[in-house]
Amino acid sequence: TDFSSLPLKPGLLENLSSLGYEQMTPIQAQSLPDVLAGKDVIAQGKTGSGKTAAFALGLLQRLNVKRFRVQTLVLCPTRELADQVAKEIRKIARQIHNIKVLTLCGGLPMGPQIGSLEHGAHIIVGTPGRVEDHLLKGRLILDELNTFVLDEADRMLEMGFQSAIDAIIDYAPKDRQTLLFSATFPTQIKSIADRIMVNPTMVKV
Ligand code: AMP
Repeated sequence: TDFSSLPLKPGLLENLSSLGYEQMTPIQAQSLPDVLAGKDVIAQGKTGSGKTAAFALGLLQRLNVKRFRVQTLVLCPTRELADQVAKEIRKIARQIHNIKVLTLCGGLPMGPQIGSLEHGAHIIVGTPGRVEDHLLKGRLILDELNTFVLDEADRMLEMGFQSAIDAIIDYAPKDRQTLLFSATFPTQIKSIADRIMVNPTMVKV
């Protein structure tokens, strides 16, 4: 299926075609209609499936670039994945001028992250421990968050990030879209989904 069948802003569609994204991958075809409708979605997808574009298009379609506040938070298990996700979001968003995507990952010095947060951002991509830390210190404000994404949720739980994720959720507005991507679905994932999602659609490819 073709991206042009989706209710996407013309700029996003033009950019997809300039990137050579013509056909949707299976995970995109099955999740994007619900993602764009603002529903909560649980999707099974590994790296390479096109999952990043599946959530990036949803959050970018909704983003108000003139409102310089954090509107999306993406949590990832590792710095490598966070960097990859931020890169893919920037690529898909490249026709949106002045958009700011900021990564906040553990194992890196605090100083530059604090400075970047003072300058502001629309989209945060980070690892749970470091994101929680910035929230606790009041440097990251999620009052205007509308999209919350858990990427590779099973790996985050394996790495012991459950309590950080629970703490982060408490800072997010209740009225938001939550998207969860995971390669596997152990009971821990089902239980987190039960707690943080509302009537999620399940997508398995
Ligand atoms: P991901 O699974 O999100 O890591 O994406 C894997 C790779 O596929 C990335 O390099 C994307 O740029 C690329 N990609 C994602 N969606 C499409 C698409 N519909 N058509 C062509 N390439 C895509």
